[in-house]
Amino acid sequence: MIKVVRRATGRYAPMVICDQCGEAITDCRDGNVEYKADRLGTDAFTGEPFFTHKECSEAFESARGGLYVWWATELGAWLVWLLDNAKANTPDVRDNAEKLERI
Ligand SMILES: [Zn+2]
Repeated sequence: MIKVVRRATGRYAPMVICDQCGEAITDCRDGNVEYKADRLGTDAFTGEPFFTHKECSEAFESARGGLYVWWATELGAWLVWLLDNAKANTPDVRDNAEKLERI
């Protein structure tokens, strides 16, 4: 899940939280985004993303598999695609974010 949490600095910031262990995923290289697929594994069932550490992925899928198949992709790639699809992967957007007070 995406959650706003209080950091050690006292400021609040959006973080990716593992839906299996509940800990923050602090390095995108350690994370996956998971989607429940249909029973045949041919189409995303709801499109709802879930986030896991790579080391938590198998436990997450095993606990929730049932009749469904899970798809997974690397968190870093997924975040880049998200930024691209929101036209947020640009220097002006990054500069503006740096200027804004962080929540
Ligand atoms: Zn985890």
